[in-house]
Amino acid sequence: MSIKLDINRFSAETLGLPVLLEVDMPRGYKKDGSFAGKVYQKGHPFYGNLDKPNYFKKGHKPYYWKGGKYKNNGYIFILKPEHPFCNAIGYVREHRLVVEKYLKRYLKPKERVHHINEIKDDNRIENLMLFKNQTYHSWFHCKGFCNPKGIIFDGRQ
Ligand SMILES: [Zn+2]
Repeated sequence: MSIKLDINRFSAETLGLPVLLEVDMPRGYKKDGSFAGKVYQKGHPFYGNLDKPNYFKKGHKPYYWKGGKYKNNGYIFILKPEHPFCNAIGYVREHRLVVEKYLKRYLKPKERVHHINEIKDDNRIENLMLFKNQTYHSWFHCKGFCNPKGIIFDGRQ
């Protein structure tokens, strides 16, 4: 097993220095919004591990294996441990994956997917909308419309 340096562990914060860098894009993203590389979230079992873990080797089932799919609070989660915004156990909400596949890019954590018919596991692309952030999303919930600026994708069209 080789040891690789995770520069995030040696940030100014860790060293007790004031953090001068202003970061308005999540880890793994460039300033222009394009995806820079694979990054695991804090709390993820592979956080800070830049090697391909043997969990991914053929036939190997990770300890959190649940068939690659589970449901929580009505939402479907899919196993995608390589996804930059997977949760602590390596899963991503399926509706976000569907929109990502359609837009051919990762969704920013701020961006919110909406189910048009309110059925949380109906993840057909024509049932989904993508909002710039939660403010536009909740506005849409209250009023049934919002500033078109806040809508990135609309499955109704
Ligand atoms: Zn919604």
